[in-house]
Amino acid sequence: MDLIIRGANLPDGREAIDIGIEGERIVAVEPGLAATSPNEIDAKGRLVTPPFVDAHFHMDATLSYGFPRVNASGTLLEGIALWGEMKPHLSAESIAERALSYCDWAVARGLLAVRSHVDICDDSLTAVEALLSVKAQVAPYLDLQLVAFPQDGYYRSPAAAENLTRALDKGVDVVGGIPHFERTMADGKASVAALCEIAAARGLLVDMHCDESDDPQSRHVESLAYETQRLGLQGRVTGSHLTSMHSMDNYYVSKLIPLMCESALNVISNPLINITIQGRHDTYPKRRGMTRVPELMDAGLTVAFGQDCVMDPWYSLGSADMLDVAHMGLHVAQMTGGEAMRSCFMAVTENAAKIMHLDGYGIAPGCFADLVVLEAGDPVEAIRLKASRLKVLRRGRVIAESPPTTVHLDLPGRPKEISFTGPWDNGVPESRS
Ligand SMILES: [Zn+2]
Repeated sequence: MDLIIRGANLPDGREAIDIGIEGERIVAVEPGLAATSPNEIDAKGRLVTPPFVDAHFHMDATLSYGFPRVNASGTLLEGIALWGEMKPHLSAESIAERALSYCDWAVARGLLAVRSHVDICDDSLTAVEALLSVKAQVAPYLDLQLVAFPQDGYYRSPAAAENLTRALDKGVDVVGGIPHFERTMADGKASVAALCEIAAARGLLVDMHCDESDDPQSRHVESLAYETQRLGLQGRVTGSHLTSMHSMDNYYVSKLIPLMCESALNVISNPLINITIQGRHDTYPKRRGMTRVPELMDAGLTVAFGQDCVMDPWYSLGSADMLDVAHMGLHVAQMTGGEAMRSCFMAVTENAAKIMHLDGYGIAPGCFADLVVLEAGDPVEAIRLKASRLKVLRRGRVIAESPPTTVHLDLPGRPKEISFTGPWDNGVPESRS
């Protein structure tokens, strides 16, 4: 075989598994693999996972923090206004340069698939051209999927409808929208119908910024679910953010979630952004503003966590680390039980891959040999430690490495190498543990 990774723990709990790779694909996943290879990686009981996937990002805005100024109020609306101030100054070169820098970070973090919204409201479609070029350049390393996103409103921005069509004609993959930013609830509802019809006619996926608001009356998710089932788009449509669901009354939600299930509507929550942007009009108590993640997961919907923003008009932090995202999501949603914590890891890996309809994702014979070896033993430990990516593999080749943590202490009786992963002597005799 071309490569064998031995002694891997897998996200589903299997331990001491060997992964055999030939060419770009995984060909064997089993304990004690008899085959040999001149290239073997000893995972030593560490977690080997399919790559991280970010199903909600804005690569045209990333790494622009502070230009031309910082978002003083921290609100979504000031962020949109600030982005509007910036847009006339953007060149294709500067957008591509920032995006490529972000892709470097992503690869280093084992983040090998990103769905990025791209603003199509600028008539020159500068960002679309720039990101289509970036998508082609990074394809050997990272799957970049682009969403035609009418940031200033599909109806509210005069040329958005025409520009969206032009962007899709140029090869943008997914139809976007922003119904809560249209002038009226009626326009928002109409935009959902129109955009879903475009996707149905072209055979494309849909991913809308939907109800990114603390207003419990922002109910465009209902229209999104309705249009999904009307047009037979089950499993192909995603509602991003859905923060108004945080503030809706429970009776209405008890009707809404079954409607979403009927439509197999996918959900993307963006914990870092939602916890910092929502609730800005509250005094105390302040709402958290994140959608109802555990309830939506319990209902059987596919829910992912996205990064959304890194160092841009909406968010001044971030580093392409999806474990940072999972960590925040776990805390905000109070998903602290063992199974719930593992679900948070799935939300930045498998669930996000499913939403993006990624081909050949996973650890099974036939899947692409896209893998990350983490300095952790299991998914919960990975989140707790924001674990180092010891090795990142793409199509069977190592494309990024980080060294394991080492310290140089000389204390009598203490080990020279430390471990964040235990087990520790807790004083309990073996027979009682
Ligand atoms: Zn977004």
